[in-house]
This record gives sequence, structure tokens and C-alpha cells, in this order.
Amino acid sequence: MTETQAALFCTIVPPHVLDRLARSQDPALSAPARRTLEADAVQRTRRQLTTVAAPVAAPGTTAGEDDADRDTGADAEGAPESPQRTVHDCQNGTDLPGVVVRAEGDEPVKDATVNRVYTGLGATFELLLKEYGRSSLDGAGLPLNASVHFGDQYGNAFWDGEQMVFGDGDGEIFLDFSIPVDVIAHELAHGLTQHTANLSYYGQPGALNESVSDVIGSLVKQYTLGQTADEADWLIGAGLLAPRVTGVALRSMKAPGTAYDDDVLGKDPQPATMDDYVRTGRDNGGVHINSGIPNHAFYLVATRLGGKAWERAGQIWFDVLTGGELAVDANFTSFARLTAAAAAARYGEGAEHEAVVKAWAQVGVETA
Ligand SMILES: [Zn+2]
Repeated sequence: MTETQAALFCTIVPPHVLDRLARSQDPALSAPARRTLEADAVQRTRRQLTTVAAPVAAPGTTAGEDDADRDTGADAEGAPESPQRTVHDCQNGTDLPGVVVRAEGDEPVKDATVNRVYTGLGATFELLLKEYGRSSLDGAGLPLNASVHFGDQYGNAFWDGEQMVFGDGDGEIFLDFSIPVDVIAHELAHGLTQHTANLSYYGQPGALNESVSDVIGSLVKQYTLGQTADEADWLIGAGLLAPRVTGVALRSMKAPGTAYDDDVLGKDPQPATMDDYVRTGRDNGGVHINSGIPNHAFYLVATRLGGKAWERAGQIWFDVLTGGELAVDANFTSFARLTAAAAAARYGEGAEHEAVVKAWAQVGVETA
């Protein structure tokens, strides 16, 4: 339990990127990266201490539950059908959650960051409810809490097991982390995974955990823009990198490994297929690296099926995440087999099932 609970601290920018920035000769780049790594370490430790101090939560609460956290995706009777959002402002400090600056139903404020996060929380809630019949992350209307302006030029965003947190970036490498709606949805999706399959955060299950967040992140972006799978950019974090960076985003589901190739940031390390699977102990066993493989499989399913990716492709992935059969330590093969089974269960042995099987074969994962 400690292992999976401690894993609830999930950042959008992986440590290998920040490590590299922290070693830059340019203090304008290295200083914010070092502060970000320090803040991440403090938050990671805080999560571990919190978990150890309070391993069991009362029924009906969300922290520290084990089996109760896993549910089947069926919503509780009378679950709320509207979000309950609260956005806080850390005012560039690191005390969470900060002061409330916009609560549910409040008019937009002057701070565009606050409004973007409020809207992004709402878009994620709407996709889950309207397309998948799920009321918030826990299926019971869990309030959505976020904090903005965390830290001093903090170059990351994270889900800490209970809420989302966004930094302003340093302006040199990273801009405001609230800019891409897929980053907002990515972080929220870690909460959805936590309340459903609760995939552990190391190796292949960790990469699946990251991939599920990228999938839902991209789906929320496509949903808000009304895009088809062919129209979507399939990028995670487009608009987040500052103009000086040679790159378009943090990751590409369409072409993993091509999101950036920059003097300072290095090259996007994501593989698209099992042939290039990266064995590493860094980044929790490459959770942000090998997630490129299931990410690309989802992209292939969605584009093969065409139309709106959140409809059939997204439904299949959602069914697996919430179906109760996905193990906390699932590997790519077991996940792939469950998607094939879910496609057949919902749509029969037709185009959807075929698209799923072919996509996984293309990235080198067997479903037979
Ligand atoms: Zn993540």
C-alpha cells in the first residue's frame, strides 16, 4: 500500500528534464529548475508522511482508501451532475492550498490563470459525466480543488493525491502551466486512476498510469475544441514551451519522440513501439518515457476508427480503467488484452475490436 500511495505525487514534467535544466550553465535556467526539483522533493515527502500518518480514511472520504478506492465506474445514486470547483492562489508561496480566489458559480476574475484552470476543471468534469456517465473523479461528485501560482517560477504541475497544483514556469523554458487544457485534464486524470484501477507508479503499470492521463488530457482538449481524431494535434502540453525552446510540446501521441529536440532540454526520449522500449531506473522506471507506447496505441485506434476519439476509442479505454479487471500492477500486455476484450464486449467483433488489435500489434504488444 505504501508503494502505491506514495506514488500519488505525479508531475507533468518528468525529473529527467528538470535534472538536465538544473545542470545548465545559464543561471536563469538552472536556478528555477533547482527550485522546482526541491519543491517537488518536499511535496513528494509530504505525501509520503501524510500517507504514513493517516493510512485509513473514514468511509466516504477520499484519502488513503484502499479497496474502497476501486470502483466499477457505476455512479452512486443521486451523484451530483454539476462540478464543485474551487481555485486557490498560492501567491508564489508553497503552502497549499492557498487562498480561495474563485469558487463554484463565481464570475470570472481578472487573473487569466485562475479562469483557465476553473474552465479546464469544468471541461474535464463535463467529458466524464456526459460521455461516460461518471460524476467527477470518484463517481460521487468529488469536489475539484486546484491551486495556481505555486512557488517561485515553479516549472511543473502536479496531482498530490487530493488536488491539482500549477506553477507559473520560468518564462525561459516553461510558460504558465495552466495554458494547455490537456495538462489540467492530465493531472485530474491521475485522480480518476487513483479512484479506479489505482495503477501503481513504477515501470509498465506506471507508464500505463501516465498514458491514461495523457489520453484523457488529449480527449478533453479535443472535446473542448470539437475536433475529430484527424483534426487533433495529439500533443501534450502544446503552448507550454517558451519561444526559445526548439519543440512543440512535452509529448506527442501521434509521433512519440518528436515533441522537442532542444539544446537545453535535450531530445524527447519517448519510444513509439516496444522495439525502442527504454529500460531505466530513472523517472520511476521510465513512466513518462515508455508511456509513449500505449499513447501511440490509443492514437492508432482513434485515427483508424475516425470521428470523435472520445466516443469509441475513449469509451474502450474508460471501460478498462473503470471495469474492475485492470490490476494495480498491470503490464502493457494485460492492458492491451483488456482493451481488446472491452471493445468486443461493447461493440462486438467488428471494426472497433479490429482497430484495437491492430493498433497494439503495430506498437509491438500482443493481444492474442
Ligand atoms: Zn502525470
